[in-house]
Amino acid sequence: MEVPLLDLKAQLKPLRRAILDAITEVVDSGRYILGPKVEAFERHVAEYVGSNFAVGVSSGTDALLVSFMALGLQPGDRVITTPFSFFATAGAIARLGGVPVFADIDPLSFNLSPEALEEFAGDPNIKAVLPVHLYGQCADMDSILEIAAQERWAVVEDAAQAMGAEYPSTNGVRKAGSMGTLGTFSFFPSKNLGGMGDAGVVVTDDERLYGSLRLLRNHGAEPKYYHEFIGGNFRLDPIQAAVLSIKLPYLDGWHRARRTNAERYQKLFLDSKLPAEGRLIPPVSVRASEEVFLDHIYNQYVVRVPGGLRDSLRSFLSEAGIGTEIYYPVPFHLQKCFRHLGYKEGRFPETEKAAREVLALPIYPELTLEMQEYVVDRIVSFFGKT
Ligand SMILES: *Cc1c(COP(=O)(O)O)cnc(C)c1O
Repeated sequence: MEVPLLDLKAQLKPLRRAILDAITEVVDSGRYILGPKVEAFERHVAEYVGSNFAVGVSSGTDALLVSFMALGLQPGDRVITTPFSFFATAGAIARLGGVPVFADIDPLSFNLSPEALEEFAGDPNIKAVLPVHLYGQCADMDSILEIAAQERWAVVEDAAQAMGAEYPSTNGVRKAGSMGTLGTFSFFPSKNLGGMGDAGVVVTDDERLYGSLRLLRNHGAEPKYYHEFIGGNFRLDPIQAAVLSIKLPYLDGWHRARRTNAERYQKLFLDSKLPAEGRLIPPVSVRASEEVFLDHIYNQYVVRVPGGLRDSLRSFLSEAGIGTEIYYPVPFHLQKCFRHLGYKEGRFPETEKAAREVLALPIYPELTLEMQEYVVDRIVSFFGKT
């Protein structure tokens, strides 16, 4: 049996006609830059996420970049973030001359540990904190927002993997991206809400930042050819906006399907005894409750494989036709391009351990029970052999 890590064709099937119609509308409209499709999508996103404003941009990477431009990040400014994320998180800070400062992760959620942030209290060079809601589960935002308020740090949420993830904050249930100063999202095709190319969005409740973002994504021009700031071309393409507007109403249904799949894996793994034997550790949905069902939207379903067996399990599954991935094998502080920051191996033990152990299994909404049973059966068989 073939079980790919992700099957975008299965998702497309029921939506194909509607998406082609929406694209045709853009083609026939002659409006190929910004315009009504982009504005409509921005309204949909703001409403869905629960923020006042949304600005469509060219990618999740550019969403981060333009957010720090809007905050006025200056060369030498320090931004605290996790060393365990997709490269764009740290790259956005460094591309503006900022200095990414890393803090270790919490081993259960894989997200920035609020305790690790404490050591930066009182550091006047820190301008912002950039938590990432990795794999589709929110970082501990209550604690992060509390220390950020004390220290007057801006908070940029990298919610690229978590659009729609819910967080039971002290102010009620909030969605990922809506809690910080700014929240950024990616619509890279493999995210839960995926475009047919690159796309992203930034959300905020701050009207002044909203104004800056709109200018900065369009070379800072207002009116045309008069430049108050140096921006860039970070515009969201209307064809992507049209596609994403068709898909957005299905997002919560896809989340629920992923969630159901995660529960099935959980049961299958418990029955297999592998977790009890310490051979495989399934992911933990740390804040699930009756009122917060979507606290984890499983953009990725990531297990830990301790004991140095992760890579051989991965090859074994690949030979059995099962797609897996490692998000992410090399933490930021050990990347060559950040050597000048001076971090040594061993500095972030939880991050380094996670990088050695994590393995993402197929979790996409259209995955069948039969496929999941096959995946677990193959994993059991791998451990039976070793
Ligand atoms: C995907 C992703 C990004 C970048 O998004 P792109 O749209 O690919 O540029 C940034 N941060 C995280 C955590 C991501 O997963």
